[in-house]
Amino acid sequence: MNIIKFDRLTVIRHCSKFNCQETMLKFPQKFFVLGLPVHILENYPNWLLDCLKESKGTHVVTLNAEMTMQAERNFPLAKIIKNAELVIPDGAGVALYLKYLLGEKVKRFPGIELAETLLQKIAQEQMSTSIFFYGGAPGVAVKAADLWQRKFPTLNILGTHSGYHSSAEEQQLLQTLSQIQPQVIFVGLGVPRQELWIAKHRDLCPHSIWIGVGGSFDIWSGRKTRAPHWLANNNLEWMYRLYQEPWRWQRMLALPEFVFKSFIYRWIPGGMLPKH
Ligand code: UDP
Repeated sequence: MNIIKFDRLTVIRHCSKFNCQETMLKFPQKFFVLGLPVHILENYPNWLLDCLKESKGTHVVTLNAEMTMQAERNFPLAKIIKNAELVIPDGAGVALYLKYLLGEKVKRFPGIELAETLLQKIAQEQMSTSIFFYGGAPGVAVKAADLWQRKFPTLNILGTHSGYHSSAEEQQLLQTLSQIQPQVIFVGLGVPRQELWIAKHRDLCPHSIWIGVGGSFDIWSGRKTRAPHWLANNNLEWMYRLYQEPWRWQRMLALPEFVFKSFIYRWIPGGMLPKH
């Protein structure tokens, strides 16, 4: 475990409003993509800042086509997505579904961009929000934290932990999280591991924002790169990922499956909805 600034513990305790008041938060509009919820908001990062200000515990799921297909076969994952306070349209497939099948003009909002904007806003508003990075190969989360800390020295990144460890180390991590109560916890273990992990442990920090960020630490640490804009803007980010990580081909069969099921659903409304 690498706790970068354990000495800030006192600051967190003073800042956290553990006695949550009546919430002033707007309920986001909810739509369904193959039976799974997606919340539509004008500004996701601002909504999360409000959650922070109100100490509202929140689980953020970044939904893409691959995840919806996994959820069809993984009942606990489907249940977690349905219970999440915020589900954003991370992938092009989900955004296109909302646009063409439900008539909702929605732009995709990749989870990594939500995480980046949130960190940026926390720094710009000079909030003393405490943050924790968990996941990735040894050294990756530390490097990612380092990058953010250099970019925004006022950020309060309390600590990091790699996503590969023994169960004894995990117990220690859980104990630390419970002790230091980070206000924002980024979990980068990949889907569905991160969603299951967050659902299992979020009660340890009931007022925190927990976000599953997939491979974001790999990107921030420079281990991997994101697709060029022109590919992403043309809904082809998946092609770049396949080029970068060819072993993904099997997982990516979920994409044509998603398209097929979406069209069937269009023609036989309700007929193909998953049973979860
Ligand atoms: N990972 C981890 N622990 C594990 C398995 C995976 O920390 O036991 C990390 C891995 O190092 C990578 C991330 O989880 O940084 C998964 O990234 P990926 O891009 O595959 O995420 P997904 O596409 O599933 O969102």
